[in-house]
Amino acid sequence: MKNLSNINTVKSIVKNNNFKFSKGLGQNFIVAPEVCPKMAEACNLSEGIIEIGPGIGTLTLELAKRFKKVVAIEIDKRLIPILNENLSEFKNAEVIQGDILKINIKDLIASNFSECKKISICANLPYYITSEVIMHILESEVDINSIVLMIQKEAAERICALPGTRKSGAISLAVRYFGIPEILFDVKRECFVPAPKVDSSVIKIDLNDKSSRHKIKNKRSFFKVVRAAYSQRRKNLLNSLSRGLGISKEEILDVLMKANINSCSRAENLTFDDFAKLSNLLFEF
Ligand code: SAM
Repeated sequence: MKNLSNINTVKSIVKNNNFKFSKGLGQNFIVAPEVCPKMAEACNLSEGIIEIGPGIGTLTLELAKRFKKVVAIEIDKRLIPILNENLSEFKNAEVIQGDILKINIKDLIASNFSECKKISICANLPYYITSEVIMHILESEVDINSIVLMIQKEAAERICALPGTRKSGAISLAVRYFGIPEILFDVKRECFVPAPKVDSSVIKIDLNDKSSRHKIKNKRSFFKVVRAAYSQRRKNLLNSLSRGLGISKEEILDVLMKANINSCSRAENLTFDDFAKLSNLLFEF
């Protein structure tokens, strides 16, 4: 078995296949031996794994060693023969060529994981589509145990920030509607070829705890309120909500008072429960 996390192995695979890295597809391959085993172990308690963007298969190998079934989705056609060769020993690993954003996750699971009790998603994500991929998975509303992702460090901090704190953003609230995110560990930029300009972090979103969503009467209304509040995060809520939702300031003020929220607060001052209260009241409006 090739040691795919060794820099010389990666360089010789790239050279032998005349492969040119695509910046546009976020191709930075991992070359640190300790990272992929740790990511794979973070998917514990699952039997089936969907990997996004396997590259040359470094993380895929670690997943295939540990789990019953691995399905890896890779957009770049040039990588498919390389992946098939590198994964040839593992009959439980399958590669599908495609764009994860165009794949229906529900159908993918139904047709590939009927024998797996619990499923996780694991990926060293291309940074250009981090939020889209996360929301694509979460919005598919499939029964997934956890999502383990390597993403840009700053994006990880934003996603895992507690609502009501300065680093929070609309994505922190959106993710917490579906589960509990946490940062597992950081990965320096030197751990990739080519090295990106930023450091990374591995995060895990545990999707077993569904208590947050039960506080919300209408999901669409919740997401609309969060988006409106954060679309002008420097403005106070009275202005950002009135503008973003197209509702008069008088009406917004009335709702803020009922929810016991100061109208001078900004989006980043509101907890998840504040947003839940606010959207429940606005939904009744
Ligand atoms: N997993 C490998 C590793 O850790 O070395 C490669 C990670 S690299 C950061 C991202 C990978 O995602 C690349 O192989 C790239 O071709 C692939 N990719 C980019 N956009 C994609 C998409 N929309 N759907 C599926 N794969 C994608």
